Amino acid sequence: MADFDAVVVGSGVNGLACGALLAKSGWRVCVLERNDWLGGAIKTAEITQPGFRHDVFSAWHPLWVGGAAHAQLGDDLARHGLEYVNTDHPTGTLFPDGEAAFLLRSAEANAAELDRHHAGDGDAWRRMLDEFLPNADLAFGVLGTELWSKRGAGLALKAYRRFGRDGILDFSGGLLASARDRLGERFASERAHGLLAPWVLHTGLGPDAACSGYMAEVIAVAVQDGGMPIPRGGGARLVDALVAVIHAAGGACETETEVDRILVYNGRAVGVRTATGETVTATRAVVANVTPTQLYGRLLADPPREAAQRAQRFRYGRSEMQIHFALSEPPRWEGDERLAQTAIVHLTPGLDGVSRAVNEADRGLLPAEATVVVGQPLTIDPSRAPAGKGILWIQLQELPWQVRGDAAGELDTGSGTWTESLRERYADRIQARLARHIPNLESSILARVALSPADLEAANPNLVHGDPYGGALTLDQNFLWRPFPGRPGHRTPIDGLWHVGASTHPGPGLGAGSGALVAEQLLEPPVPQRLVARARGLVGRG
Ligand SMILES: Cc1cc2nc3c(=O)[nH]c(=O)nc-3n(C[C@H](O)[C@H](O)[C@H](O)COP(=O)(O)OP(=O)(O)OC[C@H]3O[C@@H](n4cnc5c(N)ncnc54)[C@H](O)[C@@H]3O)c2cc1C
Repeated sequence: MADFDAVVVGSGVNGLACGALLAKSGWRVCVLERNDWLGGAIKTAEITQPGFRHDVFSAWHPLWVGGAAHAQLGDDLARHGLEYVNTDHPTGTLFPDGEAAFLLRSAEANAAELDRHHAGDGDAWRRMLDEFLPNADLAFGVLGTELWSKRGAGLALKAYRRFGRDGILDFSGGLLASARDRLGERFASERAHGLLAPWVLHTGLGPDAACSGYMAEVIAVAVQDGGMPIPRGGGARLVDALVAVIHAAGGACETETEVDRILVYNGRAVGVRTATGETVTATRAVVANVTPTQLYGRLLADPPREAAQRAQRFRYGRSEMQIHFALSEPPRWEGDERLAQTAIVHLTPGLDGVSRAVNEADRGLLPAEATVVVGQPLTIDPSRAPAGKGILWIQLQELPWQVRGDAAGELDTGSGTWTESLRERYADRIQARLARHIPNLESSILARVALSPADLEAANPNLVHGDPYGGALTLDQNFLWRPFPGRPGHRTPIDGLWHVGASTHPGPGLGAGSGALVAEQLLEPPVPQRLVARARGLVGRG
């Protein structure tokens, strides 16, 4: 293979977005992917029946559409055929008694919905927005800034100027509160708590974890404002468009090409060697879209000792499982008719239900009453299935990797590993729960495909133990400390080697935050050029 400016190891959304941003600025980029598809946790495929296009892993793109990479690449991607479709019914929670609560697209609609459950919670929603929105720049700034950098220091200074010393302690202390405490303080109704608490699972946390309160509010505001956008035709359309940008600049994206060594010469990363022994040279950067475990434990022949030790201690989070249904007709939900139009419905007894399921999973148990994430992509994009049919995308985020038992006392968990039989019996349990609310579910199933934590890990080495989020997001591995203290951010101890992906700040999700941050740093002109540009600016102004 030829020489490139940059070689990207792994074609996750961060690797591709970084590659596309560099390509847009004229770099020749080569992305190397071990799998036979590009996109990592983005894959659209007919895995059940012909004509049913399932998003096999990730499905919902609000983070991408709200992120820095989309802001810079959106027009290019649209030219390559990417189109987003959205909904006014992004999410809701269905409780065991058949009552449901919804998060809608305007402050007024949400206030009215919360008042429906408890008079006064509508005002509490408005108060939350009044407190959140003036400082939203700081919240989103944290997620879009290299924290250990001049820009990170600038963000801290901005917060200091706004709040003063005591104010900043008060504000930052509030960010640490759990969803239980924060939602409990704000809203009287358990329906409101149960509407927002399941969303903290999507940030890798549980409702009793530090920072989960603020994360629940970040998501609430983001969903109210941005809805639940998805690409028409499936998530893979985003991948296709990113790849097209890289190709248009003379780059390459190779599948079935595993990298087994990052080549280092005189302390600088100069390329990679593939598992078949080919060498690909990178004249400016190697970008590794992998876990710290793989980067420092496998890809570097002689990794810096401290980083290797830290990487060895990097912890992975709870495991997850996906279930895909192809249905002969759309699901007919019992109860509120809006359930049939809602993109993501959470089935849970409420905040305590989520807390219990998380705790059971943390203790190695299959939860007795899991939080079931029911995705209905056809409510937004009917093109993904033949007319009149149904698709359900089910996500279960509260599972252990080593199964010690079943909190419901029903399933024999055997050796504790994720066998095909355990996967299918657990999927049966979830299916039976769904069928209580969707009476036509079982009679309409054409096909069901379940993916256990072990299947997820086998599909993508970044999903260690089936953790969908690239490493636990406990406070000691999050924000300023991701992937680990002593080596936070994206620069590595090796010159020219950069680390991106869910294991790095700002963590998981399709926002491609780490890919965008690394591209920004790689494209920054060197210091002498910056000084000349600044001097020219000053002369020009004079
Ligand atoms: C089931 C599931 C559902 C999710 N749902 C959503 C959702 O709806 N919305 C959302 O915002 N987020 C969702 N997430 C999270 C989000 O998808 C991920 O955080 C994000 O896609 C991770 O991107 P990444 O850049 O870290 O790379 P990944 O997507 O993990 O891809 C890394 C790629 O690198 C390849 N690779 C690794 N090592 C090598 C090597 N040595 N050589 C060559 N290739 C290599 C892997 O094969 C893989 O393709 C979900 C995640 C999962 C697993």
